[in-house]
Amino acid sequence: VTTEKKQVVGHRLSAKGSNVPPPIESFDALKDQEKYNIPNHIFPNLVSSEYMEPTSIQAACIPILLQNRDLVAISPTGTGKTLAYLLPIFARLGAPAAMSDSPGGVRAVVVVPTRELAHQIHNECLKLAQGRKWKIVLFSKATANALSQKAARDKVDIIISTPLRLVSSLQEGNLELTNVRHLVLDEADRMLDAEFMDQIQEIVGACSNSHIQKALFSATLPSGAEKMAMEMVNNPIRIVVGLKDT
Ligand code: ADP
Ligand code: MG
Repeated sequence: VTTEKKQVVGHRLSAKGSNVPPPIESFDALKDQEKYNIPNHIFPNLVSSEYMEPTSIQAACIPILLQNRDLVAISPTGTGKTLAYLLPIFARLGAPAAMSDSPGGVRAVVVVPTRELAHQIHNECLKLAQGRKWKIVLFSKATANALSQKAARDKVDIIISTPLRLVSSLQEGNLELTNVRHLVLDEADRMLDAEFMDQIQEIVGACSNSHIQKALFSATLPSGAEKMAMEMVNNPIRIVVGLKDT
């Protein structure tokens, strides 16, 4: 099923996959509890971020990710891909582990190719998490070491990391990803490159929960990478913004 629609900021939007939910018209539309069931605490932090309207990629991807569908999303640099995956994670993660009766360890992982990018995404997370007890860890040698005890790991909700850092901790036996429900590969074109491929396979393999949702975001996806992306996901929806769909 392929549809094309003119979107809020005038980008061409192409969606492929079964039962694609329609894009949201505004952030306000997400307050429809019956349709989206997003906890109310999300909205004040969204308003304080001063984003008036969703970008095309956000409008298209947020409803898809809220339905727990797998996703391959392609949209140019600067179109707001970060919020497109972070908002649904915060909406669907439930209570912070620190406040929950059954803390179960890391439930969302965002993997990016560089430390610098991980840092930026961590900052966006902190904005969305303001006033809440989410434990969001920018993974480094130091923060990974601080999680060598299971009790400490069980308090973590979200990890932002480069592939190598995650793999090192997995190999040291200092990290379990068995309860991860949301795995995002950002800048997926670089992550599916030869440099990272083995590490990505290991991370995906370690995320063994049967309810896992996988989402890949990128500005471009060459056909080789796209093939690997499609093999990694389950009954995915593919969204392309701004480029002519091929
Ligand atoms: P991408 O990952 O697609 O390159 P980013 O997520 O880094 O884009 O966002 C690019 C910029 O746009 C950031 O400064 C971000 O704060 C801003 N931004 C994101 N969503 C919106 C929105 N809905 N309205 C206005 N600005 C936004
Ligand atoms: Mg980005």
